[in-house]
Parts: sequence; C-alpha cells; structure tokens
Amino acid sequence: MGKAPTPLAATLDTAAVTALRRLVTGRVITPTDHDYDRARRIFFDGYEGRPAAIVRVVDVEDVPPVLDIARRTGVPLAIRSGGHSVHAVCDDGIVLDLSGLRALDIVPESRTAAAQPGVTAAQYTNAAGAFGLATSFGDTGSVGLGGLVLGGGIGFLVRKHGLTIDDLIAVEMITSSGDRLRIDADSHADLFWALRGGGGNFGVVTRLHLRLHRVAPIVGGTLVLPATPATIAGFLAAADSAPDELSTKVNVMPIPPLPGVPEEHHGRMGLLATMVFAGDVGSAESIYAPFRALATPLADLIHTMPYAQIFEPDDENYHPRAMSRTFFTDELLDETKAEALLAHLGSSTALVPVAQLRVLGGAMAQVAEDATAFAHRGRKMMISVAAVHESPDETDTHRSWADNFVAEQRSSQPGAYVNFLYDDGPDRRGEAYPRRTWDRLARIKQRYDPTNLFRVNVNIPPGAAHPGPSDR
Ligand SMILES: Cc1cc2nc3c(=O)[nH]c(=O)nc-3n(C[C@H](O)[C@H](O)[C@H](O)COP(=O)(O)OP(=O)(O)OC[C@H]3O[C@@H](n4cnc5c(N)ncnc54)[C@H](O)[C@@H]3O)c2cc1C
Repeated sequence: MGKAPTPLAATLDTAAVTALRRLVTGRVITPTDHDYDRARRIFFDGYEGRPAAIVRVVDVEDVPPVLDIARRTGVPLAIRSGGHSVHAVCDDGIVLDLSGLRALDIVPESRTAAAQPGVTAAQYTNAAGAFGLATSFGDTGSVGLGGLVLGGGIGFLVRKHGLTIDDLIAVEMITSSGDRLRIDADSHADLFWALRGGGGNFGVVTRLHLRLHRVAPIVGGTLVLPATPATIAGFLAAADSAPDELSTKVNVMPIPPLPGVPEEHHGRMGLLATMVFAGDVGSAESIYAPFRALATPLADLIHTMPYAQIFEPDDENYHPRAMSRTFFTDELLDETKAEALLAHLGSSTALVPVAQLRVLGGAMAQVAEDATAFAHRGRKMMISVAAVHESPDETDTHRSWADNFVAEQRSSQPGAYVNFLYDDGPDRRGEAYPRRTWDRLARIKQRYDPTNLFRVNVNIPPGAAHPGPSDR
C-alpha cells in the first residue's frame, strides 16, 4: 500500500496551494496573480466570489488531484465550464475551471458528437452546422455545455427535438472519490437518469456524447411587434398552436436601437421574438402569417439561414448585472395577465426590465416526466423576468420587484428550471425537483457523493428530505 497522504489544513493554505501547483499541469491562479480578478469573473456582474485558487485545467488528468485536495481540506469546490451560472465561483475554496477543455469531435456518419465541457453552444453549433447537423442547446452561443446540458437545455429546437438531455447518449465523469465512469442507459443507469437535469451534483463531467439531427436551413430570426396585451396574448396562442417545427422565445422589453426599427420606437415597450422554423422552407410563409398579422411589425428580420446563425455574435466584455426570477406555468397569458405583465414591467426602475416568455410543448413534452431528472415535461410555458441595472445599491429593489412578479403571476402549481435559478435561495430547489425526483436524486447523491464534495450548485445534499414546497 502507498503512503497515506499528508493531512492538509481545513483552509487552502500555502501548503495546499503548493501541492496543487505540483500536481496539476494547468495554471493555479491565486489572489496575488495579476489576472486573478479576470479569472474569477463569471458572466454576470455582481457575484464577486473570491476563491483561494482557480485551477485552469488543461487536461482531464488535472481533475483527480484537485478533487483530492478539496476533499482533504474540506474547502468549497466550484466547478466551472462556461461560467454562465452564479455557481461558477466561490469564496475561499477552489474553482475547478474546465473552460479550457474544448475538444470537440463531430462524426457526421453516425450523427453523433463528443464534446468536452468547456465547448460552447456556438462552437459546437458552428462545427456541426458545417455538416448540416445540430443539437438543440439554449439561446446564447457563449454558454458552456458543461452546465447547460446537466440542467436540461431549453433552446431553439426544443419543440422539434426536445431538451438537450434528450440527445445525451453517454457521459464521461470523475466521481468524488476519483473513479472514472462512462455512464449511459446501460451502465450506471441511475446516474444517467440523474445527470439529465440534476446539475453538477454528482461528479465532474469530462466529456458529453450527444446525438445530432439533420437541420436543413431554417427560416427564423427576429420579429419585433409593439407590446400590447393583445399582441402578447395573441403571440403566445399562435406559438402554442403552431407545429412542433416552430420554437419561439419572446422578450417583452424596451426596444433597443435595432437595425430597421424606426427611431421613434426605440425605448418603447416591444415584443422581440426570436423564432426558429425547422420545417419545410416552402411552408414558412403560412407558419409566420398569424404572427405577422398580430400588428404591423416594427422589424421583420425573419429569413432563411443556416441554423448556426441564430446565435447573436458573442461579446466577451458583456457582463450585465441582472436580478432574475423564473417559473413554469400551465397557462398561456391571456390579455388580462399580459396587461398585468406590462404593468409590472412599467413599474420597474431598472435600466432594462425584461420578461422572457417561452412556449414549450412539442418533443420536450413527449418524454415521460420520470424518465429524466428534469421533471417539468408537460409545463406549457416558462416565464422569466430580469431587471438589468447598473449599481449594486439598486439590487435589493430589483430583487423585490422580481420576487413580487413571481408571487403575483405564477399559477398554483410551482416549478422552476434549475438552470435559471440564481440567488433564489435554497427553498426553490424543491421547485426545480418535485418530491419524487428529489428523493431519487438524494439517494443517488448519497451513493456517489456521500460527503457532498459537489455542493457549490443548486445543491441536493446526500439523502436529504425534500425542501418543499412542490409536492407533485
Ligand atoms: C445569457 C444566458 C442565456 C442563457 N440561455 C439559456 C437558454 O436559452 N436555455 C437554457 O437551457 N439555459 C440557458 N441559460 C442558463 C445556462 O444553461 C446555465 O447558466 C448553465 O449552468 C450554464 O452553463 P455553463 O457551463 O456556462 O456555466 P457554469 O457556471 O460554468 O456551470 C454551471 C454549473 O453547472 C455545473 N457544471 C458545469 N460544468 C460541469 C462539469 N463539467 N461537471 C460537473 N458539473 C458541472 C456546476 O455546478 C456549475 O456551477 C442561459 C444563461 C445565461 C447567462
């Protein structure tokens, strides 16, 4: 038997940092490094974690020693892939930064892809698009696959091809005890179920194997309409009754200075819809007619394009400060609810108040609710609000505004998308995971991460009882 490792202090002291530097190939960045502030920064401003060390992994072999040191010291361990969640950083502990793991293999013959977790949605979609193939991710190209896939993945092909996890074939993962597993429907089937929605609770994912679909040029882009109770309610009804080939995302917000939108409309409340029709191009005109008939469009940028062009170009210097809340609902907004939505947006003092409305259904709803740890299959819509603001002094005001919106607008049946939970507090974990899902996840967590090494996330403590309030 080898020599037992020297015990480390319960903080990340110099000895532990030295050990990290000795054991990993990647860079270990600490507070005295010139680029520490840049390295700890996440997508959102306002979440200022100060880790003791950030380990920029360059090779999967770097992962086990980091887990070992986190385990032996007991310091918090944050896992970061694309850095778009608020859990990608922590105070005092270690950030395991996987954003440099970006290997991607697209195999057109089998319509499959193998992606390391630092691959972004745009990188993957562009590479797959070269073969006329795609997997559905989210609405933003810079999001990392590591976090997005483990939470579910609700994107522009959600009604046609389902959630991203519905195209997950296998996962390579390193557990808290350093075991390397290949997980799929036949091996470690319990983990395969848990990883499809259970977030980063179970281990460090080092590779994702995904299915690709043939996606010919789509007809899509942005349609801007004036936001009134009638256009909002009408849009949602039309999106709901459209064929599954059409997926939509609507932002109700002050209209930014978009090309083609006359200046007098800038700053007025608008309905900015991003739409993807992944069906027969010849029938697109009739698919879009009900939306265009709702009002004279202020801008109509819908056109035929390769699917990969649906992502806006990334701006790596864009770090908004936003207070956001989300919920699922089983009803579309009628005109009365749409009016209340507009009033709530109008009452915000934020620089940019925005409500995002996503009509769900289609392929996402055709998977059984207990088939994966993402349990909200049958929900009709996801609604999120955000208050983008500049000063940290305003944050409490906008938090109350967003919380009040959820309290006023959501239906009796709670529910939240785990990837859209920010600083919502631990109680909403029970909304992300209804009781039966939670109980199963807590048992699997007990088995694979009994000491809760992976706890900087929407955490499911090993064996813990459901935190309420959802009782579905
Ligand atoms: C601007 C923006 C737009 C978005 N749009 C959408 C959208 O349209 N649809 C959608 O579904 N989601 C969307 N999201 C939410 C997004 O999916 C989540 O924030 C997701 O967690 C981001 O993944 P990431 O790898 O970039 O983030 P990270 O913050 O790096 O990771 C998030 C968490 O996932 C876990 N994790 C990450 N990588 C690993 C790994 N390799 N192994 C184990 N655990 C890991 C960790 O717990 C980590 O804290 C959006 C987010 C933003 C900021």
